[in-house]
Amino acid sequence: MAQHSSGDLEADAPTADAPLDERHETLKSEDDWRHCLSPDQFRVLRQHGTERPGSSPLNYEKRSGVFSCAGCGQPLFSSATKFESGTGWPSFWAPLPGAIGTSVDDSHFMRRVEVHCARCHSHLGHVFTDGPAPTGQRYCMNGIALAFQVAETK
Ligand SMILES: [Zn+2]
Repeated sequence: MAQHSSGDLEADAPTADAPLDERHETLKSEDDWRHCLSPDQFRVLRQHGTERPGSSPLNYEKRSGVFSCAGCGQPLFSSATKFESGTGWPSFWAPLPGAIGTSVDDSHFMRRVEVHCARCHSHLGHVFTDGPAPTGQRYCMNGIALAFQVAETK
């Protein structure tokens, strides 16, 4: 559709550095994060904050779909693993394969296992061992750290 252009603009078209661009996306500076997240999201995702229990509408989300990282969009949890924990935080008994990473968190005078996005390392919540079958794990997530996409129904 385009008319003849001079072609000058194509000189620096990205070719081999597409993977670099992708990596760059996940290595945002603190300023970048502040720019693309709400203040509450920034506090949770990038400063290991915790949202007020019961404050996320995702507590009541019962539809089929996928919960992904609010920081980078990586799919993290399927609605098939969501359960009502009664804690006031969206809870799951298993993440999607390879979606998350964990680290030991010794803050607040207790040892907990911190959960973060495997791609952008944003803090998501904690995982406990008092969850339901089949895994016995309880991924206690901050709803503000998640974005929900309803599954397409046909
Ligand atoms: Zn992420």
